[in-house]
Parts: sequence; C-alpha cells; structure tokens
Amino acid sequence: MLKIIYGLSMAWLLLGCMGPGVDRSDSLIVIDAGHGGHDSGAIGAGLYEKDLVLRIAQKTADAFKDMGYNVYLTRDNDRFIKLSGRTKIADRKDAKVFISIHANAIANKSRFTKAEGIETYFLQKTRDAKSQRIAARENAAVLQGADALSKNVIIDSVLNGPKIIESNKLAIDVQNKIMKNVKSHYSDAKNGGVRPAPFYVLVGASRPSILVEVGYITNPKERERLFTSDYQKRIAKGIVAGATRYIDNRKKELGF
Ligand SMILES: [Zn+2]
Repeated sequence: MLKIIYGLSMAWLLLGCMGPGVDRSDSLIVIDAGHGGHDSGAIGAGLYEKDLVLRIAQKTADAFKDMGYNVYLTRDNDRFIKLSGRTKIADRKDAKVFISIHANAIANKSRFTKAEGIETYFLQKTRDAKSQRIAARENAAVLQGADALSKNVIIDSVLNGPKIIESNKLAIDVQNKIMKNVKSHYSDAKNGGVRPAPFYVLVGASRPSILVEVGYITNPKERERLFTSDYQKRIAKGIVAGATRYIDNRKKELGF
C-alpha cells in the first residue's frame, strides 16, 4: 500500500514539475541566426560565426518548440538575408519577441585569450566604446560602401526604436538565465552583462528585440566550448528560460 501511495505521489510530483501543459501556441518567437551566405560573420581559427549561430539558433528553436511555442527561424540554412528584412519578418509574423544570435570577435590578436564572455544587447545609442565597436562590426554588412552621411542616418534611425524598455527587460531575463545554465557546468564562464548598442538588425523592430553575443569565437577556450553540442544547448535553454520568464511576467502585467 505504501508503495502504491509513494508511486502515485511520485507520478503527481513528476506531472507537477512538467507543468499542466501550458498553452503557448499563441506566442510566436522569431529566432534570427546572424549573417549567412557570403557574409560569414566573425572568423576564429578557420571557424565561421555564421555556422555556429545557425546551430545555436536551431537548438533554441527546438527548445522553444518543446515548451509549446510557435517558432520561426529567419534562416534555417546557409543563406544571406538583408539585415533590414530580419525584423520585418518579426513584424509580419506578429512575433512576441525577436532574438538575434551572434558570436563575438576581437581584432587585436594580443587580446585573443583575454576577450571572452556572453553578452546580451538591446537597441539603444551608447557612448560606451566597446559596445560601439561590436555594433560597428555586426553592422558592417549594411554600412559597407555607405558614405559618412548615410552612415549617420542609419545609426540615428536606431534611436526611434519604441520598445527600448521592454527590450531591456527581455535582455536582462535572457542574460541571467543563459549565465545560470552555462555556469552550472562551466563555473568560469564570464558574464559580460546586458548592454545597449546600436545594432542595425534591431532597428525598426516594433516588438521587444535583443541580440545575444554567445561568446568570442576568437578566444581559444570559449571557441572550443561554443562548438560543442552541450554548450550550445545550455545557451539555447537559457534563452528559452529567459524569454519565458519575460513573457510570463508581461502577461501578468498587461495581458501581453
Ligand atoms: Zn555577428
């Protein structure tokens, strides 16, 4: 008898942990794997950012689907999509949030082993030199060939993003959960924090939008981890846990 009661209570506990099947199918998440096609993004030891972020984006999409969300990937293979088209997809699909996934790099070889860490960005103009440098690199595909005046026009248009506060909140939740997931196994993983930066891919987004820099592809230690399935899954699950926390809190606040 005791055994049966024990068995029943374990089953009940297990069901409780899994949740009573929360219906999240009304929430569409757009995941954007950075770069693609002729735009390889950053390169570290012959490995391409575009390939790494596609793998993480696919794992993130799978993890969102496991939670019952609807998911749309801006690219599911190695092709180039204009930056300006990426947030438009999120608008057209009426996504709840837009999450762009990138990997970081540093040009100065003497700093390859020093520059490391996971960072989450939201769209805002900043005076911080480091954030400006990273945004300039990620924006290169758009700004290439543009003259100084049009560069300023492009960067200034960044300021009109209506969702800065919401995006900041989403960035905080996602960054916290990624770090929690990664640090539970890689205790020395560096938390680069949440930062504002003028990323062109986030311009014009009419919904909460963030850009995750999953780590430095130029850092040997971080690169090795980034290209393992385990590390990629930890980042993916962190993104999903963070976005879920954000969406659940907004639902409570304003029927989001
Ligand atoms: Zn990138």
